[in-house]
Amino acid sequence: MSRIPVVDQECCISCEVCTQICPEVFRMEGGEEGHNHDHGEHKSIVYNPTGAPEEKIEAAMDGCPAACIYWQE
Ligand code: SF4
Repeated sequence: MSRIPVVDQECCISCEVCTQICPEVFRMEGGEEGHNHDHGEHKSIVYNPTGAPEEKIEAAMDGCPAACIYWQE
């Protein structure tokens, strides 16, 4: 029942799709809050693995263009 999503930092291309689909779970790290234009510095992290229903997390996984979000049992 308690699998948690994980982002592969190596593979994240910082597109921010997951944070838009599921902001309760994912957020961009590695830059200042607010937008500087250097998006390459940011990576998505899981800051609240249980913040959303699994279906919603799975929608973020499906939406990730680099397919780098996965479940860790
Ligand atoms: S959707 Fe995938 S590639 Fe895009 S920010 Fe999230 S983890 Fe990174």
